[in-house]
Amino acid sequence: MSTPANASLSSLPTGDPARLNDVATALIHHPYQPPGGFETVQPGVHKASTVIFENTAALKTRQWKDKSGYTYGLHGTPTTFTLEERLATLEGGLQTLLVPSGLAAIALVDMALLRSGDEVLIPDNAYGPGKDFARGELAHWGITHRVYNPQDPASLAAQITERTKLVWLEAAGSVTLEFPDLAGLLAVTRAHPQVVSVLDNTWGAGLAFDAFRLGQTPEGEAFGVDVTIHALTKYPSGGGDVLMGAVVTRDATLHHRMKMTHMRLGLGVGANDAELVLRGLPSLAVRYAAHDASTRQIAKWLIERTEISQVLHPALPDSPGHAHWSQTCRAAGGLVSMVFEAQHFTQDRVEAFVDALKLFKIGYSWGGPLSLVMPYELQGMRQYGPLAGKQGTLVRLAIGLERVEDLIADLDQALRVLRA
Ligand SMILES: *Cc1c(COP(=O)(O)O)cnc(C)c1O
Repeated sequence: MSTPANASLSSLPTGDPARLNDVATALIHHPYQPPGGFETVQPGVHKASTVIFENTAALKTRQWKDKSGYTYGLHGTPTTFTLEERLATLEGGLQTLLVPSGLAAIALVDMALLRSGDEVLIPDNAYGPGKDFARGELAHWGITHRVYNPQDPASLAAQITERTKLVWLEAAGSVTLEFPDLAGLLAVTRAHPQVVSVLDNTWGAGLAFDAFRLGQTPEGEAFGVDVTIHALTKYPSGGGDVLMGAVVTRDATLHHRMKMTHMRLGLGVGANDAELVLRGLPSLAVRYAAHDASTRQIAKWLIERTEISQVLHPALPDSPGHAHWSQTCRAAGGLVSMVFEAQHFTQDRVEAFVDALKLFKIGYSWGGPLSLVMPYELQGMRQYGPLAGKQGTLVRLAIGLERVEDLIADLDQALRVLRA
């Protein structure tokens, strides 16, 4: 049944597309060029799939691998090149690749540097989804992995074979925050020339320590890891609203191998996301220092609480690897974890504590302004170290940029709920 309104719509005269289109070419090929000399605080945001070549000669001599030119949006824009260079400077590296997440950075390194028949060694306290990638993907391609005790270089040495091509490192360890003897672990990998060392440096963010200068050869030459990866999602973005990752190296050959895999996989990042990370970088050091100062204050407050069996934070003298942290680091980041043992509190009580927190929100990730909390079941979490075989719940706090006294008051009232 047609209403009067419908009837009047169907009787509208149709437009003439040919006449409306007269201006199309002028709008697409518009001659106006704005004046140069537009200097701004932040770099421009360039967006492209297509990049235009001046002529066929330019097309035939196109060059993108060394950032001397452009060929296609996926292979780099002024915006992504700028971000890559700034991240290389932050890390003390020479080359950077950008990928859509921190996890994609882990996957890219594994895929680029491992072949069927190879083995990769992963620390017990590595970022969980990175271990899942080895279990769920690498295994299908005939690449095996084994887990080593990151607090014991001898454990790493004992597991390296001819087949070992990649050794992952992480400092501090995910969730449990043990700080490893990085120089000691690297001394082991350096004894095996076929092994590439790669550090997940998300926690240190290029600020807490120098990943490419961790030890010294007898000749006085500085050495560090071969490759680092970062979840830019965390501190570099700083907003809790971007997903991005980076792979940094100082070795041109390794960089080239990974860049070819990066290209073949079609990995790229959006210009607006790159813009947000570029916007976060100028305040990275002051934000990191603020997270660090608040977290140390909260960690010191937490060790006085009798409900908590153990507080994990590398700057605390009783935290695992504290001595290595002292030798290596000038900062300690914004994470602190606490252990509630099963003989003192049931999981229900610990969950009541987490639910009672008001300023700390329950959520994954970290590095933004908002403080976050995440509970983890201890059972099966670790193969090595004092937490192996323990029953109970670990609660990780990511300290944001709120006033620290307010965060402590929030923890205090929630601990009263735990005891109730
Ligand atoms: C968050 C995180 C990652 C993964 O980053 P996403 O961007 O979330 O994929 C990798 N490693 C560490 C240590 C992390 O904390």
